[in-house]
Amino acid sequence: MLLQMVDVKSQYLKIKEEVDRGIHEVLDTTIFIGGPKVKKFQEELESYLGVKHVIPCANGTDAIQIALMALGLKPGDEVIVPAFTYVATAEVIALLGLVPVMVDVDTDSFNLSVEDIEKAITPKTKAIVPVHLYGQSADMETIMNLAHKHNIFVVEDNAQAIGADYTFSDGTVKKTGTIGHIGCTSFYPSKNLGCYGDGGAMMTNDDDLATLLRKIANHGQSVRYYHDVVGCNSRLDAIQAVVLSAKLKHLDEYNAARKKVADFYDAAFAGHAEIITPLRSTFSTHVFHQYTLRIKNGKRDVMKDFLDEHKIPNMIYYPVPLYKQEAFKASSNGTEYLENTELLCNEVISLPIHTEMTEEQLRYICDHVLRFFS
Ligand SMILES: *Cc1c(COP(=O)(O)O)cnc(C)c1O
Repeated sequence: MLLQMVDVKSQYLKIKEEVDRGIHEVLDTTIFIGGPKVKKFQEELESYLGVKHVIPCANGTDAIQIALMALGLKPGDEVIVPAFTYVATAEVIALLGLVPVMVDVDTDSFNLSVEDIEKAITPKTKAIVPVHLYGQSADMETIMNLAHKHNIFVVEDNAQAIGADYTFSDGTVKKTGTIGHIGCTSFYPSKNLGCYGDGGAMMTNDDDLATLLRKIANHGQSVRYYHDVVGCNSRLDAIQAVVLSAKLKHLDEYNAARKKVADFYDAAFAGHAEIITPLRSTFSTHVFHQYTLRIKNGKRDVMKDFLDEHKIPNMIYYPVPLYKQEAFKASSNGTEYLENTELLCNEVISLPIHTEMTEEQLRYICDHVLRFFS
């Protein structure tokens, strides 16, 4: 049985005609960078997310970097990030000469622990970058309240949660990535909305920030060859835009298919003494970029070996806390140990989840996982 963490190929075959036609149109016009196809996708995504501005860029890492560049921070300013996330979130902070202040996460939601955020805020704190890890929103209402209280910016890392809905206590519903001052996302092929190369975008409802983000992504210019600020070169190309336009129409359906996979796994592992299935929070829908279990009693690594041996794909996102990475030694604010982050690095394991999974595949995977414990 062919099992994969993601199956981009089978998904492509279902939309092949539209994607191929779009790519050929781009080849015919030879407008490869920017142009009408990128504009069209930008507007479609603005409408899908219900946000005023989408600014496409080259990848999700750039999106976070450009977002932070737009906030006028100075070297030495502190930016709060979860210690349990993909490296990109903290990397750009260090790259800009800012200090990544790594904060612990909750063991049930895997997201930033809001109690710990407030403890980490100092007069130098200028921004918080919550990550909606594995496809479920961080506690954005509390985070936004803290940010207003302390006059700091919020940049959402929405690379893993595009399409998720966050519900505020007054019943208002917003898409993740549109709640903070700026939202960032990635269109890396394996993401929930992935293209066939690199791609990313920033989202904001603020007109001035939108203008600035667009300018920074384009060498700091809004009039060609007149450079107002130091920017960078970060563009989405037209071939990626047509792929994204074709796939955006299916995003809700794709996310529903992922949820069905998660429901199957949840049912198979329900009540198991040594497996903790992922929490579904009350304030956020879950788009299951990853389906991540926690394995108790120190058995995660042996279970991983067992799955590897039986050719069941699996991944550990993420094995090492960010503060233990060599790369961050120089920019560290001194964080050495965060209890929940350490626990999760030792307990998490992600199983295959994508839009094309069959019940037969799911049953096979679940049987093997359960067999390991029996
Ligand atoms: C994928 C990802 C990114 C980076 O996106 P790229 O497009 O690969 O640069 C950033 N943060 C998180 C949480 C991600 O999963």
